[in-house]
Amino acid sequence: MAAIYQALHRRASSLFCRLHSTYVRKMRYLNELKEDDSLCRQAQTSGTFYLFHNLCPFLQKVGKKYLVPQLSAAEMKRILEKCKGTEQWMEQSVLTGCSDEHVPHFALDLGALEKSVIESELKGSFTDLRKALFVVDRKDSPLLASAQSLLRWHDSHQFCSKTGHPTQKNAAGSKRVCQASGITYYPQMSPVVITLVSDGSRCLLARQPSFPQGMYTALSGFCDMGENVEETVRREVAEEVGLEVESLQYSASQHWPFPSSSLMIACHALVRADQAEISMDSLELEEARWFSLGEVVEGLKREPRPSKQDDGRFLPWFPPRQAIAHQLICEWVKQQTSQPA
Ligand SMILES: [Zn+2]
Repeated sequence: MAAIYQALHRRASSLFCRLHSTYVRKMRYLNELKEDDSLCRQAQTSGTFYLFHNLCPFLQKVGKKYLVPQLSAAEMKRILEKCKGTEQWMEQSVLTGCSDEHVPHFALDLGALEKSVIESELKGSFTDLRKALFVVDRKDSPLLASAQSLLRWHDSHQFCSKTGHPTQKNAAGSKRVCQASGITYYPQMSPVVITLVSDGSRCLLARQPSFPQGMYTALSGFCDMGENVEETVRREVAEEVGLEVESLQYSASQHWPFPSSSLMIACHALVRADQAEISMDSLELEEARWFSLGEVVEGLKREPRPSKQDDGRFLPWFPPRQAIAHQLICEWVKQQTSQPA
């Protein structure tokens, strides 16, 4: 009886599903996988897998391109047998998405196994994410970043922070539960606000001592507990460069995996008209200054890496296009150049 009911239910849901867009169906399917452990385990057998080793993604270099291979479950099994890994690996994988045809994608960290064996077997290499993000195809970067962040989160949330007991992940890896206290932990990101401050004709860019030589970017900082985005922008700009901003405009947001998971919220801010004198927080920043439109346009033309001018000083350059700061800077230039003279 239950089987008949289930079959009818499935038929009804599939009819219902046909009314929805590909996107809606896909999101609903992913949500089902997150909620239903047995469905998710079953999906693993027809899914594809992205490999990591101690949080470094596996890449294959084909010609000049770096590809991010997806392995089938059968291929995974073969590799694991080769490396003397156990079938337990299925339990360690995390759901990262699915195709429009509902082929689920998982990510898995094989840090416990011998790296060189996998690399020679699959003809590729585990690459540091900081490098990988900038060499793979643009569509693959966010995927690698979110998969690595999820794997990192699981790795650092093995125990309940209240009782110290081990936590268990669900099949999809969308949460971890402590059986002793009943607490459910969900993967988290830290909100960070990144602000391009302008005085109307110039924009403010700064550098920290740890940045590569010559690189300048917009100001950024973590949201304090209880703060909204507007309050964070106002406080960060005040703390870092001693200026007060008045108007604020949201631009876009982006997940950023370094140093752990951040949600970068990008904004444009206009400094109050009576303020233009920078007083820099020298503990946090090495330099902060106003850049003219011309300087910014020149900086954007340069390759995003250190280069020296004739007198030996480093020429200013900005973060590469994968970073949201780049987008903020480009938007500011566009806004400046579209203004009527
Ligand atoms: Zn607990």
